[in-house]
Amino acid sequence: MTSSTISPRTVLRGARWPGDIAIIGDQIVASGNVAPQPGDEVIRVDGDIITAGLVNTHHHLYQWMTRGRAVGCDLFGWLVELYPIWGRLTVEDVRAAALVGLGELAISGCTSASDHHYLVPHGDDTVFDTIVEAATTVGIRLHLNRGSMDLGESQGGLPPDHVVEDLDSIMASTERIITQHHDGYMVHVVVAPCSPFSVSSELMEASAALARQHELRLHTHLCETVDEQTHCLERFGRRPVEQLAEWGWVDHDVWLAHGIWINDPEIAQLGTAGVGVAHCPSSNARLAAGICRVTDLEAAGVPVGLGVDGVASNEVGGLFPELRQSLYAARLRTESADAFMPADALRLGTSGGASCLGVADKLGTLQPGMLADLAVWPGEDIADIADPLTGLVLGPDRQVRHLYVAGQPVVQDGQLLGYDLTEAHADLARKSRRLWA
Ligand SMILES: [Zn+2]
Repeated sequence: MTSSTISPRTVLRGARWPGDIAIIGDQIVASGNVAPQPGDEVIRVDGDIITAGLVNTHHHLYQWMTRGRAVGCDLFGWLVELYPIWGRLTVEDVRAAALVGLGELAISGCTSASDHHYLVPHGDDTVFDTIVEAATTVGIRLHLNRGSMDLGESQGGLPPDHVVEDLDSIMASTERIITQHHDGYMVHVVVAPCSPFSVSSELMEASAALARQHELRLHTHLCETVDEQTHCLERFGRRPVEQLAEWGWVDHDVWLAHGIWINDPEIAQLGTAGVGVAHCPSSNARLAAGICRVTDLEAAGVPVGLGVDGVASNEVGGLFPELRQSLYAARLRTESADAFMPADALRLGTSGGASCLGVADKLGTLQPGMLADLAVWPGEDIADIADPLTGLVLGPDRQVRHLYVAGQPVVQDGQLLGYDLTEAHADLARKSRRLWA
């Protein structure tokens, strides 16, 4: 997309932080104190706070169909309880969950969502088309992770056999989805086998080859729990990161969900290679998985972003609360009150996430030349807090006043423009109740 000098500018004027922002087309062209020009479309945002749009690096939108279950379980217990229910989901169920999940992300400040979808109802991979349609309806940028599982219970995996696919089907479907949906702008397709205990080595290696053939990114769950580590030691005789390297995945085009149970040499190894980590503090807390070593990872050069994870393990479903959660988790883990500050949390939620997704040259900061993905946060209730970022990150949970993706309004005055979110919630609840039986 191009901009020209004759295009009218949209100027967000009067924000408490970082001042004014001017947009032409899909790009930020000026920030700070922007001098007026004839023809400017001016939007007053006096006293508000503007940040780059939040980047959600790990989510499972379909899980909105199964919120509030397996509340007292760790990861493996939770999965074993939920897999059979997920096995009954239809494509229409996933559509309903994606509309709600993406809408809730947008009003919590997300301009980019990464959906790791690894359930293909009865082999019907149009489920991925449906997720793209939902993102288009909402107006949000999507990293569509073509997730997969090919190791059922009978082969030594954790999921029941009826929810996994075979390797050839996964590869053919992934090729189709890349061809049909990857535009490298609003939709990025990612090749994303699910987790060590649900995939074969063949799937991990074939996925890496396919992604690199198309110059796409790779994503998977890794080092989430001690149980996963035990599984890897028993099955492969290696720790998860060692096994990841064996599959050819320790490289700059990979980011991992969770990355909790990683030792010092492994952190250095990931940092040298440029492997990213999606930190999901609320989900990790709810499942008692552990606390990610965010400060150690960043010190070693690992890009770290934030993720909601699925709402079956984080019922809030918005990314904004993860800013504060990441700060609390880092301070609890380090037992240091200044090891991780509000600006650090915001960095994870914006530019850190963009680095994980391989788009940090276009997204994640408010510099001129970057894509105009930005969140305007109401500031009136935190006007008494001297540092606006402290007010934002440590203050009450909030929803955006306005949200822009590629310079286009997606949320205006707190309302999603693309569709009726209340009706989408009602439709989803009707579908979800069918699964309670
Ligand atoms: Zn996950």
